Amino acid sequence: MFDKLLAPIGAIALTACATGSAQTATGGQPLTAAEWAEGCEPWDEWDKPAPPFKIHGDTYYVGTCGIAAILVADRRGHFLIDSGTEAGAEIVLANIRSLGFDPKDIRFISHSHEHYDHVGGFAVLAEETGAQIVASPIAKEVLESGVLNEADPQFGMHDPMKPVTVARIIEDREQLDIGWKTFTAIGTPGHSPGALSWQWKSCEEKDCLSIVYADSLSPVSRDDFLFSDPPGYVAAYRTSLLRIAHAECDMLLTPHPSASQMLKRAASGSLKGWLSCKDYAARVSERLDQRMLQESAR
Ligand SMILES: [Zn+2]
Repeated sequence: MFDKLLAPIGAIALTACATGSAQTATGGQPLTAAEWAEGCEPWDEWDKPAPPFKIHGDTYYVGTCGIAAILVADRRGHFLIDSGTEAGAEIVLANIRSLGFDPKDIRFISHSHEHYDHVGGFAVLAEETGAQIVASPIAKEVLESGVLNEADPQFGMHDPMKPVTVARIIEDREQLDIGWKTFTAIGTPGHSPGALSWQWKSCEEKDCLSIVYADSLSPVSRDDFLFSDPPGYVAAYRTSLLRIAHAECDMLLTPHPSASQMLKRAASGSLKGWLSCKDYAARVSERLDQRMLQESAR
């Protein structure tokens, strides 16, 4: 797997002045996307450790093989999107440290969709980082209670999560300013009612890309849930897909890496290209259409 490449997970960050460094804790360069792809499988396990890699510029992948966590880092403070599961959060923290960054320099943490595979580790992260948690209005309720919203297609399917306090609510099209960069929250209800996607710019020298971390948007539910049932649910879902299709998007990332062929794209050397936000939205729309047909045939 990663034996030859793995920087020791849990290694201590070098010194205080290294917290803005793009060098790993062992002084090397972070893995490339292609090196990372060698150690993971498509649709890999949620808690399978993977070393971090540099996506582009100041944007790093710090998640596991199966669940993404995205760190945008600079000596002026970091923004982290998603934690993975409770166990996965420990891997995320170790990955951040192994990049030479200090988790205590994370200023804000936010989410994709409010299910335990992506936010189940928020309590672990909140304790370790002191960062402010930023959430959509519905995700705020879920994070603060630990229980899914009743309108969630997966309501009743998951164990409760450890509650955390949300410091700030963010809505569709609102900007999160972390002092040196702004991130646009895109409201994308569908897979869950409080789901967010995120867009920001990341530059590597003169190569500036608009990155979109687009939510899963897959129509997955418990057996007795109908997407066509709650009034307005499908309309909001389709609006979410339009928002992703029309987002300024040079590079697509997703909370489940394989949902956007991230592994295959990473293996080619860069996550840029192959699958656009527009293509991704079109694929998910097809799945939603199929689901609607199935529901109307019930
Ligand atoms: Zn998920």
